[in-house]
Amino acid sequence: MRIQLPISLCLLSLFTRAQSTRAVEPEVALSRTTQLLKELSQSSVSAVPDAVLNRTQCVVLIPAGTHRLRAGTASCRETSDQWNSPRLVAFGGRSGSRPSTNILIFVLTDAAVKSLQSGSLQVSGSSRTRAPVAPKRAIPGEHELSRDVLTYEYAGHKLSCGRIQGVVRQRKDGEAGLDKVLSDASRRITRQYLSALTSFFNTIIPTGIVIHHTAVLPDEGAPPRNKKEVDKYHATKGFEITCSGHVYHVAYHYLILANGRIQKGRPERCEGAHAKNYNSYLGISVIGDFDSRDNPMGEKGPTQPNPKQMAALARLSHHLMLRYHIPVSRVVRHNDIAVTRCPGDRFPFGALLRKLKTSGMKSSSGASRPRPDVETVVTQRPRTFRKRVAAKSNGEVLIESTRIIHR
Ligand SMILES: [Zn+2]
Repeated sequence: MRIQLPISLCLLSLFTRAQSTRAVEPEVALSRTTQLLKELSQSSVSAVPDAVLNRTQCVVLIPAGTHRLRAGTASCRETSDQWNSPRLVAFGGRSGSRPSTNILIFVLTDAAVKSLQSGSLQVSGSSRTRAPVAPKRAIPGEHELSRDVLTYEYAGHKLSCGRIQGVVRQRKDGEAGLDKVLSDASRRITRQYLSALTSFFNTIIPTGIVIHHTAVLPDEGAPPRNKKEVDKYHATKGFEITCSGHVYHVAYHYLILANGRIQKGRPERCEGAHAKNYNSYLGISVIGDFDSRDNPMGEKGPTQPNPKQMAALARLSHHLMLRYHIPVSRVVRHNDIAVTRCPGDRFPFGALLRKLKTSGMKSSSGASRPRPDVETVVTQRPRTFRKRVAAKSNGEVLIESTRIIHR
């Protein structure tokens, strides 16, 4: 009996340790992939192009590590803006540049999804599968988007196309969603992971600028006075987006107030909700209704933007063009890309373009211009996931572009 007790204790200790390893490891993997997603969303150096994010059905994240088999997570979409509970996976193989780099695998086709879900996804390092990286290749071609998987490496705050070779296998303890494996307390980590994942997929590298007018608020019969009023109106339309860990309602990235002040809407790196198929463009809305049919005699406010508004718009547009390498050809009116009268036939778009072309020539000398004075107004509301819908106000039609999964 004297001998049996230490043996029993030893066995108990081993058993406890084994249980503890199984319990802790998924949490560690999940915490590390959550951190990776947050870093990726905030990095402004390089990014996964919007079209790849749109096309992605499942994503596999393998944090940096030196073990032969590296733990990570895999998640697949349930809807355009919702992801299933992450699965635990193991990656065996090698990455091209550094052995300890973070690996991201975007699964694009049904066949690859099936392989992943059946427990084994082969990832080839062929040069044919090199993934496009924004901003250099912000708009990838169809031949890139038709790949089964696109792989990336992330190290030193830099994203690059991945030269990954190996197999992603679903782990036995990852067969159920991790929320089934984890303890109650740890489900919080799953929620944080899913929030970070949703934010990441709602992140853009801006590729253009769309100019809008706000038109009038239907209940007021007058244009909104500030971002708070636009935000309140758009909240009723279900335009919310989870991005950078917050929920935003205002569809635009910037508003130009009547006195020429610039107010921030949703962050620049968050996908807009202002122009169908063009929500990787930044939306700037000038307060007012400048359409001769909607506001012929000025009964809904000034019929044209005032000089202060136009000066602020030019300053802001120029600043954004420099920051994101946007050419003048990708500064458009809403009615250039959609069936709408926005921003109104009295909006002096030609004058704006001439000004931008002139300032563009000046900027080519390398001289940096001062950042425009932007007022930040934060109005976040409780998060809800709702199906996004088309909404109409007088003269301004806003259609939320959801992340569409192309099959
Ligand atoms: Zn518009």
